[in-house]
Amino acid sequence: MSADSQNPGVPAEVALPPAPPMAVTEPVRMLPDWLDGRPRIGIHTSIAGEASRALDTAARIGCTALQIFSASPRMWPRPHQRKVPAPIAKRFRERRAELRLGPVAVHANYLINLASPDPRQWENSIAAFCDEIIRALQLGAEYLIVHPGSPREAGIDRGIANVAEAVARASSLAVGADPGVRPPNSSLRVLFENTAGQGTGLASEFSHLRGILDACRVRGVTPQPGICLDTAHLLAAGFEIRTPEGLDRTLAEADAAFGLENVRVIHCNDSKAPLGARIDRHQHIGRGHIGKEAFARILTHPLLRCDSRAFLCETPIDRPGDDRRNVRALWSLLGLTPPVAPRSVLVGARRSRALRSPLPARPKSRARAVRRARRIPSRIPKLRDGTRSSR
Ligand SMILES: [Zn+2]
Ligand SMILES: [Zn+2]
Repeated sequence: MSADSQNPGVPAEVALPPAPPMAVTEPVRMLPDWLDGRPRIGIHTSIAGEASRALDTAARIGCTALQIFSASPRMWPRPHQRKVPAPIAKRFRERRAELRLGPVAVHANYLINLASPDPRQWENSIAAFCDEIIRALQLGAEYLIVHPGSPREAGIDRGIANVAEAVARASSLAVGADPGVRPPNSSLRVLFENTAGQGTGLASEFSHLRGILDACRVRGVTPQPGICLDTAHLLAAGFEIRTPEGLDRTLAEADAAFGLENVRVIHCNDSKAPLGARIDRHQHIGRGHIGKEAFARILTHPLLRCDSRAFLCETPIDRPGDDRRNVRALWSLLGLTPPVAPRSVLVGARRSRALRSPLPARPKSRARAVRRARRIPSRIPKLRDGTRSSR
C-alpha cells in the first residue's frame, strides 16, 4: 500500500513515515509552510503585471491557496516566454512563503493536446507541456493541471497511450533541460482534470482518468500524477452531485476508479449548463445548476477533507468584487470566516490603487473644463470653408 492511500487527502510528501538514515545527497523533505491546518480555499488569480502580484491579490480576498496561468493560456508561448525570468520566479517563491499560501496550482495552456493523433500537434504539445513543467518548477508550484485532450477519430485507447507517452517525454525533457530550474524541496505533480464531455475529448468518464494514471505508472512518470475534479464539468458530464446520494455515488465511483487520495484539487465552479448537457460553462457559486446546498455538502464531505486538498474557484468575473464574493461563499459554506490578509498586503493594495487612479489634474480655466467635459479638442483645424474637421 502506498503512503498516499494510507492518508487520504494528505500529500505523499507529508505522509511519509520518519525517514531512515539517508545519503547526504538526498534532498531533505520538509513540511510545507502553508500546511497549517486551515482549509485550503482559493481562486484562479491573474498574473497580469508580475506573477507575485497574484499572491497578494489572493491573500487580499481571503484565499489560502490559488491557481494561476504561468503564461498566456490561449497562445503558443514565444521563445522569450518559455521560462519565467529568474528574478521574477524568485520573488514569487519568496512572497508565497511570506504569505503562507499553498498549494499553488498552475493551469496549463488550453491549446495543448497531449492525446492528439496528429504527430505535429502532438510534438508541439509535448514541447509546450515541457515548458509548462519548467515554469511551474521555477515558481515552486505543487500542481500542474492539464486537460488530457482529444484523440479525435483515433479513439480512447490511443488517446490514453498518447497522453502518458507525452507526459513521460515532457517530464524527462524538462528535468534534462536545466537542472537549475528545480528549487529545493519541489514536489511538482501533474494533475489530469475531468472534462464536461464536449466533442471527442478524454476524461468526461472516470475510466479515462484511471487509464491515464495506469499508463503513466507503466511509463514510470514520477511523481505519480493525480486528479483534479471540476464540479461544473462533473455535472455537465452527467454526474448527479447535487443530492446527498448522488454525491456519495459519484465519490464512490471516483474512489473505485482512481482513489480519492489522488484527487488533490477540486475546482469549485457552479454550472450554467444543466446535468448531462456536456457543455463547459462556469457560474458563480450558488447561482447555477449546482447550488449552495450541494457545495456545502462537497466542501464538508468526510471523504473530501480540505486541510491539504485545495478547493479552487474558476468562476467568471462579471462585476468588480466577484472573486472576493465567490471565495467568501466557499468560506461561509464551510461555516468559517475568511482569513484576514497580512498588513503588508493591505498596505501594498492601497499604494497600487493610489498609483493606478491619481486624482485628475485641475483644469486651468473654465473654458478648458468645459472642453474636457465635452471632449472637444482644443485646436481643431479649420477647413477652407470655415467649418471644423470632425477628426
Ligand atoms: Zn481546466
Ligand atoms: Zn476546472
